[in-house]
Amino acid sequence: MLILGGGTVGLYTARRLRKRLGRREAAIVVVDPRPYMTYAPFLPEVAAGSIDPRHVVAPHRFALPGIDSLQGKVSRIVHAERKVEVTPEEGDPYWVTYDHLVVGLGAVARTLPIPGLAEVGVGFKNVEEAIALRNHVLGRIDLAASTWDPELRERMLTFTFVGGGFAGIEALAELEDMARDAVEGYETISPEDLHFVLVEASPRILPEVSAELGGYTLDQLRKRNIDIHLSTFLKSCVDRHVVLSDGTEYDSETVVWTAGVKANPVLADSDLPLDQLGRVRCSATLQVADEDGTVVEGAWAAGDCAAVPDLLNPGQFCPPNAQHALREAKVLGDNMAAYLRSAPVHEYKHSNVGTVASLGMHQGVAQMFGRFKVRGLLAWFLHRTYHLYAMPTLNRKFRIASGWTATLLFRREVVALGTLHDPRAEFRAAAVPPTKPGSAGAAKDAAKDAAKDAADPEVAAEAQREATEEE
Ligand SMILES: Cc1cc2nc3c(=O)[nH]c(=O)nc-3n(C[C@H](O)[C@H](O)[C@H](O)COP(=O)(O)OP(=O)(O)OC[C@H]3O[C@@H](n4cnc5c(N)ncnc54)[C@H](O)[C@@H]3O)c2cc1C
Repeated sequence: MLILGGGTVGLYTARRLRKRLGRREAAIVVVDPRPYMTYAPFLPEVAAGSIDPRHVVAPHRFALPGIDSLQGKVSRIVHAERKVEVTPEEGDPYWVTYDHLVVGLGAVARTLPIPGLAEVGVGFKNVEEAIALRNHVLGRIDLAASTWDPELRERMLTFTFVGGGFAGIEALAELEDMARDAVEGYETISPEDLHFVLVEASPRILPEVSAELGGYTLDQLRKRNIDIHLSTFLKSCVDRHVVLSDGTEYDSETVVWTAGVKANPVLADSDLPLDQLGRVRCSATLQVADEDGTVVEGAWAAGDCAAVPDLLNPGQFCPPNAQHALREAKVLGDNMAAYLRSAPVHEYKHSNVGTVASLGMHQGVAQMFGRFKVRGLLAWFLHRTYHLYAMPTLNRKFRIASGWTATLLFRREVVALGTLHDPRAEFRAAAVPPTKPGSAGAAKDAAKDAAKDAADPEVAAEAQREATEEE
């Protein structure tokens, strides 16, 4: 059995299958470019420094006993021939054959062709982005504190978030909370100097909860001086100069894009039936099915990349969230095992337990069972309790809870480790032999090298500036 993607669906399906089927009955293989599953609902707290990044990931090798893992990207799916092409980070692509396929490839950021976005924007989908964003925000505060140029300082302290859904609002609120905490340690910057901006295309935020809770969240954010632009589009952010559709223009060093997701684009290069949004078509039993409902033998799918009918809301599909992905995965595992034993399969049906969101330390909103609305400290507590319960492995739950306890006793860590993103820069500069003794040539070459190699465009820009100054 081949499971594509080792995220929420991949991990929970593999575990369920291993529980239901003995090792002699089935070999299970999970393919993912990352060797770990990320629990995304905790990413905003990772960015805010309330949780250690390593604690929100469950390594496949330990979380999936009795299951093989292949590290690589699925690049093609040819279900008619029961084979999948895997492209590893190093080495040539290879084909893996299978009898049964599970598609759990998740979603990617849905972007628009906005001038400058590809160059300056950053997403908020994975743990690497959460770490980078945290270091970036803290790094800009450090830089702002070290300049006398008022324009540069304002640009450094302006942070733009595009998208007012759950992920965007949580990321904005947590990072703003962290930044306010961080500036307490600076004599030259006060919380009023921070300028956080939210841009949302629709007239409201948090469409996942009632209008009342969405309105409450807006009020809370405005009280924190967050500048909110509703019914507004990002028109351009070329060279970090932001232009909004309501005519507002300003410079912002940071543009975070959280304006929705779309199904994994690799599915477009497959022979599986897709809907108009590029998701794999499924029946409620989580078997891949053609538009007319005919089941495609040997293929199953769930999670953000699948169009799973929502039987409790006829005509609609299950929303892309962890709550559904996790539960679908368990039903999928049970159904696959049942199918192999010629037992009946069951339809996936789940009514939403609720939605919980954190808005920074001790603040949150929650809507439970569609009716009960909770705000403030209690909602924040519900958010932490629910997600701690849902976090895979006891090991990770314990580590997260210990980290929270430490943050209650001491303050959270607000140090920027910006050099994480180019750890070789200093060594490169030291290792390049000087062209002429005492000349500035060596430093110049090293800086040019750094500019060439740096993965982070800012590191590259910084190195280029250094090189030019030397010249
Ligand atoms: C910041 C953020 C906050 C969120 N907060 C919440 C929340 O509070 N509550 C909630 O219910 N949901 C939340 N979600 C949504 C939730 O995390 C997802 O709906 C859920 O993880 C979907 O599970 P999945 O298995 O379909 O996809 P994922 O968990 O994303 O897994 C997809 C896997 O596929 C892998 N993959 C991608 N491309 C390839 C490829 N080509 N080949 C092989 N593998 C590949 C990825 O590496 C990943 O491991 C949040 C999401 C984000 C980003």
